Amino acid sequence: MAETGVPFRVLPRLDDRNRAFWTGGAQGELRFWRCQACGYYVHPPQPICPECLSKDLAVEAVSGRATLATYTVNHQPWMPGPELPYVVGIVEIVEQPSVRLMTNIVNCPHDELEIGMPLRVVFEHHEDPDGDVYLPLFEPDGDR
Ligand SMILES: [Zn+2]
Repeated sequence: MAETGVPFRVLPRLDDRNRAFWTGGAQGELRFWRCQACGYYVHPPQPICPECLSKDLAVEAVSGRATLATYTVNHQPWMPGPELPYVVGIVEIVEQPSVRLMTNIVNCPHDELEIGMPLRVVFEHHEDPDGDVYLPLFEPDGDR
């Protein structure tokens, strides 16, 4: 069951490859698989680095800081989800802008949204019998 105040979400199915990403929020960490040979962050997870073809990948936490690449304000109830309207954004992590996440931008008045604005991760905790999930959402990073 969802906690009070947490919107219904279709949750990802956890597996050994994506678990680090979806559960890192338990420790407040945004985590990705990273190539240990060349340093490339590999996301979505795959067993081989697309840059250098190394299979030596390990999970590492990043800063949680990101930049807003694009966004849209959704007014339509396409599926059960957060209270309308809400903001769907694509963000680029600062460590490697080619790592893009489709997410929600939260805690930001819609008229203050701006492409390129600095963001930081916040996690939305969902209890699930198959393993709790922490969805990474993003809010304005007032410190930058
Ligand atoms: Zn590599």
